Amino acid sequence: MTPPYKKLDRSLRNRIVFVTGAASGMGAATARAFADEGARVAVVDIRADGAEAVAAAIRADGGDARAFALDVADAEAVKRVVDEAATHFGGLDCLVANAGISVYAPIDTPDYDERWAQGLAVLLTAQQRLVRAALPWLRKSDAARIVTIASTEALGATAGHSAYSAAKAGVTGLTRALAVELGREGITVNCICPGPIETGMTADIPDESKQKYARIRTAMRRYGRPEEVAHVTLSLCLPAASYLTGVVIPVDGGLMARNA
Ligand code: NAD
Repeated sequence: MTPPYKKLDRSLRNRIVFVTGAASGMGAATARAFADEGARVAVVDIRADGAEAVAAAIRADGGDARAFALDVADAEAVKRVVDEAATHFGGLDCLVANAGISVYAPIDTPDYDERWAQGLAVLLTAQQRLVRAALPWLRKSDAARIVTIASTEALGATAGHSAYSAAKAGVTGLTRALAVELGREGITVNCICPGPIETGMTADIPDESKQKYARIRTAMRRYGRPEEVAHVTLSLCLPAASYLTGVVIPVDGGLMARNA
C-alpha cells in the first residue's frame, strides 16, 4: 500500500549551521545562502577578520550570524569552538565541513611528508574531528545534517596533487562510512565534490587559463560560482532531504560527465 502523502519541511528558518572556511569562496557563499533562508550561522574560519566581515555583512542584511576563529587542524580548538558556537545559538542542526587549502607537491618534492601531513590534517582529519565534536549537539536536532566538501580531485586526479587527491578521496570514504554509521539516528551525511569554482583558491590562475580549461573540460564551458555550490549544500541540509545520505555529488558543470 502506498503511504499517504506527507508534506515535508523545506524551510531552514531558525536552523543552526556551523560552516568552516566561511571567510571566503564557497564557505562564505554557503554562510550567506543559509542566512538568506533564515538560518542562524556560525561563520568559522582560521582568518578571524575574514569571518567577522562575512558575519557582519549577514547581520547588516538582517540575518543572524556570529564569527568564530578556528584552525580546523587544531584538535582541542575544534571541540572548544563547536561547543562555543552551539552554546551561543542554543544547539546545532547542520555541519558544513568546507575549510580547505590547496596542496601542490609532486611526489619528488623534498618536503613531501610535511606537505602530506599538513594536507591530510586540514582536509581530512579535521573533518572527522568536526563531526565528533558536533555529534552530541546534532543528536539533539530533529533534522541533523552533515555535508562534507571534497573535490572532483577525489574522483579523478591532476599531476602534482597526490596529497590533495588522497585527502579528498578520504573525505568521500569518511562520508559514506559515517552515513552508514549514523543513518539509524536519522543523521544524514553527504559529500559535495566541487569542480573548478571561482574562489580564493583559484584566484591566482590567469583568466585565460581558466577559460581554456573550462572550455575543454566542462559541459557548461565555464568556471562555477561559489553560490552554485552553496545552493546544493543548502538543499542537502533541508529537513525534507531526510532520505538522501551517503552520496557523493559532483557540482562541477559536467566535468566528470564529459569525455570529449
Ligand atoms: P577559499 O580559499 O576561497 O576558501 C577556503 C577558506 O578556508 C578560506 O577562508 C581559508 O581561510 C579557510 N581555511 C584554510 N585553512 C583553514 C584552517 N586550517 N582552519 C579553518 N579555516 C581554514 O577556497 P574555496 O575554493 O572556497 O574552498 C572551499 C573548499 O572547496 C575547500 O575544501 C577546497 O578544497 C574545496 N574545493 C575547491 C575547488 C575550487 O575550484 N575552488 C574545487 C574543489 C574543491
